[in-house]
Amino acid sequence: MNYSGSLPVLNAMEPIVEAVLEEHYVKTGILKCGCDRCKLDILLLSLNHLPTHYTSSQEGEAYIKAHYLNPQQQSDVLREITEAVKVIELKPKHN
Ligand SMILES: [Zn+2]
Repeated sequence: MNYSGSLPVLNAMEPIVEAVLEEHYVKTGILKCGCDRCKLDILLLSLNHLPTHYTSSQEGEAYIKAHYLNPQQQSDVLREITEAVKVIELKPKHN
């Protein structure tokens, strides 16, 4: 095995959380602040509370789709994002 360079690994939760945040909060315009700092903080807080699902970045897409289509997973993600939004909106770190 040759591990030189960056490992082809991906936390499948990253694109999932990003997509759910975009779909349910950004597009709907219900975020109090949609600046990049707040969106990033919501993303990071949600990801820290969710289990990681590492996958090879090459197989990422199929894996992500399979998980994104799982209603239980989607509701877990949405619940964590909802909690993160509350926390960040109370104490935003933007200037
Ligand atoms: Zn902000």
